[in-house]
Amino acid sequence: MLVICEECSKKYNIDESKMKGERARFTCQECGHIIVVEKQAGGPAAAPDAAAPQ
Ligand SMILES: [Zn+2]
Repeated sequence: MLVICEECSKKYNIDESKMKGERARFTCQECGHIIVVEKQAGGPAAAPDAAAPQ
């Protein structure tokens, strides 16, 4: 997943599978800003459940 530093706009490609919890934080190598990454919801969000009457 793509993460962008709020301070310097550097882009990081974070592997979500390596995140143990719901969120992780790391230091931007460019500016030293602490970037907090939250996992994005993986499952189908509010999928319309088509319960057709027969
Ligand atoms: Zn930065």
